[in-house]
Amino acid sequence: MSVQNNILSSPIEYLKGVGPLRADWLKKELNIFTFNDLLHLFPYRHIDKSTITAINNIETNAEYIQVVGKLTNLQIIGERKGKRLTATLKDETGSIELVWFQGISWIQKILTEGSIYLVFGKLSYFNNTPQIIHAEIELYVPLQNNERKYFEPVYPSTEKLKAKGLNGRQIAKLTFALWQQITIESIPENIPENILTELNLLNRYKAYKSIHYPANKIEYNQALNRLKFEEFFIAQVRLNLVKIQRHQCSKGVIFEKVGALFNNFYSNHLPFELTNAQKNVLKQIRQDAAKGHQMNRLLQGDVGSGKTIVALLSMLLAADNGYQSCLMAPTEILAMQHYNSLNSLLQPMNISVSLLTGSTKAKERKAILTDLQEGKIKFIVGTHALIEENVQFNNLGFAVVDEQHRFGVAQRAALWKKSVIPPHILVMTATPIPRTLAMTAYGDLDYSIIDELPKGRQAITTVHRNEMQRMKVMEFIRDEVTKGRQAYIIYPLIEESEKLSYEDLMQGYQETKSYFPEPKYSISVLHGKMPIAQKETNMQRFVEGTTQIMVSTTVIEVGVNVPNATVMVIESAEKFGLSQLHQLRGRVGRGSEKSFCILLTGSKVSTEALERIHTMCTTSNGFIIAEKDLELRGPGDVDGVRQSGALNFKLASIVNDRELLEKAKQMAEKVLTDDVELKLANNLPLKNYLNQQKGKTNWSKIS
Ligand code: ADP
Ligand code: MG
Repeated sequence: MSVQNNILSSPIEYLKGVGPLRADWLKKELNIFTFNDLLHLFPYRHIDKSTITAINNIETNAEYIQVVGKLTNLQIIGERKGKRLTATLKDETGSIELVWFQGISWIQKILTEGSIYLVFGKLSYFNNTPQIIHAEIELYVPLQNNERKYFEPVYPSTEKLKAKGLNGRQIAKLTFALWQQITIESIPENIPENILTELNLLNRYKAYKSIHYPANKIEYNQALNRLKFEEFFIAQVRLNLVKIQRHQCSKGVIFEKVGALFNNFYSNHLPFELTNAQKNVLKQIRQDAAKGHQMNRLLQGDVGSGKTIVALLSMLLAADNGYQSCLMAPTEILAMQHYNSLNSLLQPMNISVSLLTGSTKAKERKAILTDLQEGKIKFIVGTHALIEENVQFNNLGFAVVDEQHRFGVAQRAALWKKSVIPPHILVMTATPIPRTLAMTAYGDLDYSIIDELPKGRQAITTVHRNEMQRMKVMEFIRDEVTKGRQAYIIYPLIEESEKLSYEDLMQGYQETKSYFPEPKYSISVLHGKMPIAQKETNMQRFVEGTTQIMVSTTVIEVGVNVPNATVMVIESAEKFGLSQLHQLRGRVGRGSEKSFCILLTGSKVSTEALERIHTMCTTSNGFIIAEKDLELRGPGDVDGVRQSGALNFKLASIVNDRELLEKAKQMAEKVLTDDVELKLANNLPLKNYLNQQKGKTNWSKIS
């Protein structure tokens, strides 16, 4: 059956009770264009007419109450801002006050003294008298014997719609009219029968029916569960199909051999033994890159887990097979650092890496572009400058994108186009992404994980200190510096004002200087407004150990590597998000010495900030921190996810419905493993549904 002849594709104006005018409002206010859109406007609550509380029996701690009584004393009292409409609602047992501050004249008009009303709302008390402010109110119609027994749905509306006479209860009438026309054929099943049975899910028609008109709470929850599962399941099937299709169709360059460069480096110049996790990932990359389809891999690993060396070895692999490779970083500092560390790692082999950033001088830039195009440059590190139009590669075969979530999808797409056959892409994340998020937002990517830190790392001790203990903190830094170690002191970027951030930082710098006077000590300072050359010098002096203390804003945040630094002090730690705190802490604990992270705050800190700080003090596992971050902030706020489109679930939540998501993923993978073309009779409903939806959603993903 096609969508066209499904009643649900009818324009909303054709619904009884709508018409062109109301249709316009529904479109504007609620994005409801078709019957189907209205079907997907789900009630936010149901009125259970059978549970009416006698006013005398209202418990003082009840939150919402529903009462029935006679309306009396309807009057407007007070003036100007204090003006309000009040009424008393009486049943046989007692009375309750009703109060409205807005829409007074309109509400007064529709209410009649002496009539019996059904009233619902949030209970509050004023002078010990129970009252409901802005109650939902309607004429009470007792249930007839054989009348429908379901809970009555109440729908979300907007102020504008309410003013036009379309409040939540009136929208319920439209939905009721809609259901007069819906048959079981209008809502065909889209989940394979065996899954429905295995998971004990309601069928699709029944689920929609019951989410609007449940017989009771249990049925409502069953409906909700089924529809949430459906959202996850369909999304997982689609993500998997994209992945499978890419594997089957996209041509990729083939790295068929492991050659001299890789082997020489691996056997003779690797400064440490790889962790098993690193070895595993390398194996995955090698296998993937040999298959002839384009690799699109997300590499997750905690701060300091050693992603860079994996990138380097992969780049050597590319070179062994005759291809160029690039590594793209989000900031100049990071690009610089990668450039330096790759060069020093490769120096014994007499290989050099080039650097291209926004501040590469014109003349040098020209030479680099020529060499890139002619294939003389095999390895290049850079910033966004790498993906500019005029950067032409000779045969780019491998692209690493570091600290992924600062780059948008479009920028990754630009990398694709740098070569006739798209290069393999390895996307490395700065901080771990919660599993549920990775599954939904990046579910179409292949996925590797480094879940093991290099041997010999000592746990970083993290503590919370307040302003009063600043002196002690400084003494602590001094002790560490005396032992030959180095320290960071980080100030937050104040988003509203670069000037304020700068002043804060400079004041902190002066203060730090007074604790650590020259010439005995020397301090580097780093902030965003500084000219790049000066930034580099200051950074370089700290890297070399010429300066013992680095006072900086968060420009230092990602990637920077100074193994001798053992103290990370974070000023105004309450102003930082969890993932940022974790990133910053990751700047220490990189060498063999014990490291410390000190979170400095004022004495007044919000509960949520305290929770973040507590999390930091109790765990150093980036995956746990990422989960906590997701929980505290919600998925929309996690960096880089907002635009991903993978979070457009109406009912399901990747925070609260994790188990359901896991299940949906498992089931989707199983269906496609067994029957990738969805040919089996059992899978036809799913296939039909996907075909129908084609083109209706602008669901695409490129990496
Ligand atoms: P990240 O994953 O945060 O990018 P890096 O690649 O910067 O981490 O590595 C952090 C530090 O750990 C670097 O100094 C690196 O040389 C070192 N390192 C990486 N892998 C290992 C290993 N297997 N054994 C010991 N040290 C390692
Ligand atoms: Mg890194």
